[in-house]
Amino acid sequence: MEVAKRIEDLRRIIPAAKQEGRTVGLVPTMGALHAGHLSLIQNSKEHGDFTVVSVFVNPTQFGPNEDYARYPRPIEADIEKCREAGVDVVFAPSVDVMYPEGFGTYVDVEGVTSMLEGAARPGHFRGVATVVLKLFAAVEPTRAYFGMKDYQQLKVIEKMVRDLNVKLEIVPAPIFREPDGLAMSSRNAYLKPEERQAALVLYRALNAAKEAVKNGTKDSAGIYRAVSDIIEAEPLAEIDYVAVIDPETLAPIDKMVDKVLVALAVRIGSVRLIDNMLIGGNK
Ligand code: AMP
Repeated sequence: MEVAKRIEDLRRIIPAAKQEGRTVGLVPTMGALHAGHLSLIQNSKEHGDFTVVSVFVNPTQFGPNEDYARYPRPIEADIEKCREAGVDVVFAPSVDVMYPEGFGTYVDVEGVTSMLEGAARPGHFRGVATVVLKLFAAVEPTRAYFGMKDYQQLKVIEKMVRDLNVKLEIVPAPIFREPDGLAMSSRNAYLKPEERQAALVLYRALNAAKEAVKNGTKDSAGIYRAVSDIIEAEPLAEIDYVAVIDPETLAPIDKMVDKVLVALAVRIGSVRLIDNMLIGGNK
């Protein structure tokens, strides 16, 4: 496994792999790797891709009062996990490599960025889309792997790829959870023991929505109530948003027809967690 720190390293390594007839898979991450990340790596390996994992805590996607400075950066452990997972290249650039002196071009994806995380975190998706397009340009992958944990991010990237004619395939992966249901996240490390317990309320609330739908609730107000009742009963939890939306447009729905996405952002103490569940269809 190679650890690349510069774009020039990639320009040497990736064409050589393609020369050998390999397809290339990119798994973009901010590091502090957990089993959720590893499931994306696994997907890439299963496709037979020459697998590149980027580890970069991207400053442009954090707001001024967010956790950029304290975001965990266990780079040595991450490199080891990648090695064990059979990754071919870890791309771990510095901020200067990604944003050199004079940098000034950003990607603004319209529409799907206006709500949920986009509304709660102004500028977040501009930073995400910009860094992801830069990673696509640096790696030139055949496929790129994204988790449905960040469902809106997945939709933003899909739209960017469509709108800007980026030649690659986006492969979504289901949410990977702890045995007790908590969606895996690098930010779970911030949770104190009693908060870790309280954080289970997100998954409980999403399951309550699923149950309500199964029992015949189809209106969004009813689904919303099923979710918010559960979260409000947890003293350590504070709702940032509960959204009952169309899984493609992310627009609010009145009544569920086939599928609905329930998306949550909840504060547990000082830690902001997101989670979501796709309900309906054939599930
Ligand atoms: P992050 O390092 O948090 O930016 O995440 C990097 C990628 O891993 C994104 O595509 C995330 O959606 C994905 N990811 C993070 N947590 C999970 C999870 N629990 N299950 C599946 N994918 C995840």
